[in-house]
Formats: sequence, structure tokens, C-alpha cells
Amino acid sequence: RAKDEGGGEHWAYEPGLHATAEERRKLEFALRNALERGELSLNFQPVVDANSEQVLSFEALVRWNNSEQGFVSPGKFIPLAEDTRLIVPIGAWVLEQSCKAAMSWPSNIRVAVNVSPEQLAEPDFADTVVRALANSGLDAHRLEIEVTESIFLRDANLASKSLEQVMALGCTVALDDFGTGYSSLGYLRKLRFTTIKVDRSFVQGAATDNPESLAIIRAVVAMADSLGMKTTAEGVETAEEAKMIREMGCTKIQGYYYGRPMQLSDTAKIFQRRAAQPRLSA
Ligand code: C2E
Ligand code: MG
Ligand code: MG
Ligand code: MG
Repeated sequence: RAKDEGGGEHWAYEPGLHATAEERRKLEFALRNALERGELSLNFQPVVDANSEQVLSFEALVRWNNSEQGFVSPGKFIPLAEDTRLIVPIGAWVLEQSCKAAMSWPSNIRVAVNVSPEQLAEPDFADTVVRALANSGLDAHRLEIEVTESIFLRDANLASKSLEQVMALGCTVALDDFGTGYSSLGYLRKLRFTTIKVDRSFVQGAATDNPESLAIIRAVVAMADSLGMKTTAEGVETAEEAKMIREMGCTKIQGYYYGRPMQLSDTAKIFQRRAAQPRLSA
């Protein structure tokens, strides 16, 4: 912008802009090397059956720990990885590691993996999934792909095609962060999502003081029911929220109340504790 207005001196008036660009360049440089330096890892967060509170699956959540930048949140580096298309190799790594992790769990436990629009725009996305399944030995039915409404803003046909290919393999697809994107309900007719994940912004506080959020959750559950889809409530942090969500008929619950994202080595404790006592929250 500054340059368009004619004159490099404008930069002097906007040191903030310059610092941000510089910071971003540094972050991007570091991210380019993150995979080969082994700086990426995965955490796993349990998803439980709303009624039985039994663990059904874990969602894989990527973590980046850089020697200079320290811990960088996915909210910061995923958008950068998407802009630079680094999400393609990173996403392939996440898929394979997630499938390998699931192989260490009982065979009734599934794994959910977040996939960005940029990955679905790759014509060989389904091949990447096939490779992850083959290299890990995981049954396709144990893999769920999570996408957000934003996939329909890019090339919706290409994204749908990729998703139909992985569904044909036996994978399921969940619609993440429902209600926060540029919602157009039309696409619910076109793609058979298995699950709609109700964004945590509707869940949090809804138990006590937000009748509008309650009404929206109730409507989403009713709509999902009639479409033959399941619902997961995201971001359940308290017993009150869990109770409210159960009463509203959501199928599954995810949130700190039942378990925070954890290292793979800690997931076994969840199964063991499950055997000893029903309540999972630490
Ligand atoms: P998401 O897929 O909606 O994942 C849920 C996010 O909510 C996670 O944040 C999780 O730690 C957080 N969360 C779970 N339960 C609670 C709760 O009870 N309270 C609160 N306040 N937060 C809760 P995280 O790990 O920071 O990830 C943020 C986002 O980054 C994810 O949102 C997802 O969109 C993206 N992401 C993470 N890993 C990957 C990945 O491997 N690939 C892609 N493409 N995106 C990823
Ligand atoms: Mg997700
Ligand atoms: Mg989500
Ligand atoms: Mg989210």
C-alpha cells in the first residue's frame, strides 16, 4: 500500500507494518525447515459418546516447537502454511503420523485429521490418504477427515471430488467449526458428511446465559438428525456444559472437560482410566 501511494519514505511512518512482514518472513523461513528438523509433533484430544462417555476417537492436532520462535500456535502457523502451500507436505505428514498413532489404539477407536482447502485442491489428495493408510496399515474406516466450510469458497468441485474419493475408500468426513464460516446450507445436500461439529463459540456459556446459542445448537442437532448426520459439540469445559449438550441430543462431545490435547504416550492412560472409572476429566 505504502509504495502504491508513491514513495519509500512511507515505510518510515508505518514501522508496525514492516515489523509484521519481517516477522512473517522469519516464521515462514523457520516453517520451511520444521518438518525435516523434526520440530512438528501431534497431540491427540479424546472425543466421547455423549451418553456413555466412552472414548470413540481422538482428534490429531499439530504442534510446532521451534528453537528460536519457541512454541507457535496452530492458529498462527496453519494460515501461514496454507498461504505458502507448505500445508501440503505438512498435511501429508500429519495424515501418516495420525494413522500410525491410531494403530497403537484398540481397533474400535478412530482418529480424526484436520485437512485444509489447499490440500483438497491437490488432484492427488486421495493418493496421499491411500499412502498414509498403506504405510501405517490402518483400516480406512478408522480415519475421519475434518474440513471446514471454507473448502466451499475455493474450488468447491475439486474439494468435493477429493472428499468423495476418500469416502469411497471408507473414510468418513466431518464438517468442523460449523456455524462460524460463510454458511450456505446448500452443500449439505451435496456431500454426505458423517458428523457436524458445532463450533465451541455456541457451546461455551450456552449452559448458563445464552438462550440464542442454545436455540442454535438445538436447531443444528434437529437438522443433522433429519439429514442422518451426527453432531459433535466442541469446547465442552464444564460438567454443566456436558449435561446441557447431552440434554440437547448431541451425539458426541469434545473438550477440556473430557480431556485436553495430549501426547500419544498419554492416550493409553485414557483407556486404562476408562476401565477404572467412567469420568475422564483430570
Ligand atoms: P479445530 O480443528 O477446531 O480443533 C479444536 C481446537 O480447539 C484445538 O485447538 C483444541 O485444542 C481446542 N479445544 C479443544 N477443546 C477445547 C475446550 O474445551 N476449550 C477451548 N478453549 N479450546 C478447546 P488447536 O490445537 O490450537 O488448533 C486450532 C486449529 O488449528 C484447529 O481447530 C484446526 O483448525 C487447526 N489445526 C490443528 N492441527 C491441524 C492440522 O494438522 N492440519 C490442519 N490443516 N489444521 C490443523
Ligand atoms: Mg478439527
Ligand atoms: Mg473445530
Ligand atoms: Mg476450531
